Amino acid sequence: MAKFLNYINGEWVAPSSDQYYDVINPADRSDVIGQFPLSSSQDTDKAVACAHEAFQSWSKLLPSVRADYIYKFIDLLADEFEDIGHVLCREQGKPLAESIGESSRAVKECRYIVGESTRLYGISLPSERPNVSNTIVREPIGVIAAITPWNFPFLTPIRKAIPALIAGCTVVLKPANITPHCAVRLAMLFEKAEIPKGVFNLVMGKGSVLGEALSNNPLVKGITFTGSTGVGRQINLSAAQHFTKVQLEMGGKNPALVADFNDLNFAADQIISAAFANAGQRCTAISRVIVKKDQADALEKLIVEKAGQMTVGPGMEPTSKIGPVVDDAAGDDIMGYIERSKTEGATVALGGNRLTGGVYDNGYYIEPTVITNVSPDMEIAKQEVFGPVLAIIRVDDFAQGLAVVNDTPYGLASAVFTDIQANICDFMNTSQSGMVHINHGTVSESFMPFGGVKASGLGAFSIGTTNKDFFTNYKVIYHQYK
Ligand code: NAP
Ligand code: MG
Repeated sequence: MAKFLNYINGEWVAPSSDQYYDVINPADRSDVIGQFPLSSSQDTDKAVACAHEAFQSWSKLLPSVRADYIYKFIDLLADEFEDIGHVLCREQGKPLAESIGESSRAVKECRYIVGESTRLYGISLPSERPNVSNTIVREPIGVIAAITPWNFPFLTPIRKAIPALIAGCTVVLKPANITPHCAVRLAMLFEKAEIPKGVFNLVMGKGSVLGEALSNNPLVKGITFTGSTGVGRQINLSAAQHFTKVQLEMGGKNPALVADFNDLNFAADQIISAAFANAGQRCTAISRVIVKKDQADALEKLIVEKAGQMTVGPGMEPTSKIGPVVDDAAGDDIMGYIERSKTEGATVALGGNRLTGGVYDNGYYIEPTVITNVSPDMEIAKQEVFGPVLAIIRVDDFAQGLAVVNDTPYGLASAVFTDIQANICDFMNTSQSGMVHINHGTVSESFMPFGGVKASGLGAFSIGTTNKDFFTNYKVIYHQYK
């Protein structure tokens, strides 16, 4: 059985506890991927101390020199992304095409971010005084703790580590305990790219232990977190103690509002793919369709038909459009939401069950599920399910739809499908979400800023050009030169 180690200060080291846990394939629980470290706060403290030490020199390198290391990393990643896609599929469960899609998108995002080394610009302003130049420059903030979820187990760590390093910060990564293998592959790439020791560190184990330790460590100057809103809130509270900067990307209850849209077939295709990709385990998944009543019957019929044709199965099977959910506990959570929606009076129009028999008995498979007759006050209309479940809510008109769109604590992504220009403008101006999609599903791009508002996000948006606002602080310089 393969046993994996933490990567600290350029070396593969056992956790101080010398304890390990098994990681298994969600498509087939008899397939044990390996044993991974159950680390303790001693291990994170060590990693942070090494990252702090490495920061002293890494932060002083010319950005172009730091970029050279990352160019080498990208070349190695570009050679390995298909293999990493296979690792991802086995560990996380999403269909192989989606898994390779994730690792190839990592290449794209890296290629954009590495260019930020030449765009770490500040501002210069005319002074009020003669012979004074006023400038604002950026400085890297220090050690970054990156805490990541299991649903994009390769891309999310990349999206945090690479911009941090480009900006001159050093990194300690704590990946989700369900998907550490992808993080090991990332650390191996840094090792092969000969990144200086201590610049990138990986510590694996339980978030309740390691996340706490990282959030409370005063040498950590920034915490970039992607995960649930509850854990994000806890991190924010801990970080406040030492005024540690945070970048929090959290849950969503993303709506698609459909009203007066001629091409319902197109809308249904877009909604289905945004709802059921990665078995619905995407923070930006569409999980609520809000439809004007005159088009509701037709849209529901199309969605139920199309979702019903999606094949569920192991991610490695080319026919599978929906893979397993990530583990048994996630399956129980999802089934709980479905059951309670029935108690509240909603109708399960498609699916609603765990799949059993044959290959399904080996893993955690749930049917694509469409729930109709949902009213905006039901749990299924408000809470993030994080599974292959779509709720459909009917409204009388566009204005009521818009009110339902915003009637949630979340504010990540939203979509509208309408042919009426004035309604598009109303939606753009009124939708309380970080990302708005007009006449297509909630799919983001690799250079565009990514983030949310309300309970979905706090701090600088990640990906594109906004990310450096998290990894750098401003310094204001007044220079009397004569
Ligand atoms: P999670 O339970 O919040 O876990 C995320 C990370 O936090 C994991 O590494 C976890 O470690 C760690 N963690 C757990 N308890 C912690 C604590 N007390 N202090 C610090 N860290 C702690 O989320 P998840 O279940 O992995 O992922 C699903 C959630 O992520 C969903 O809500 C989804 O919407 C959200 N998400 C948001 C985005 C976005 O960009 N907005 C993207 C993807 C996912 P363990 O794994 O060891 O518990
Ligand atoms: Mg969790």
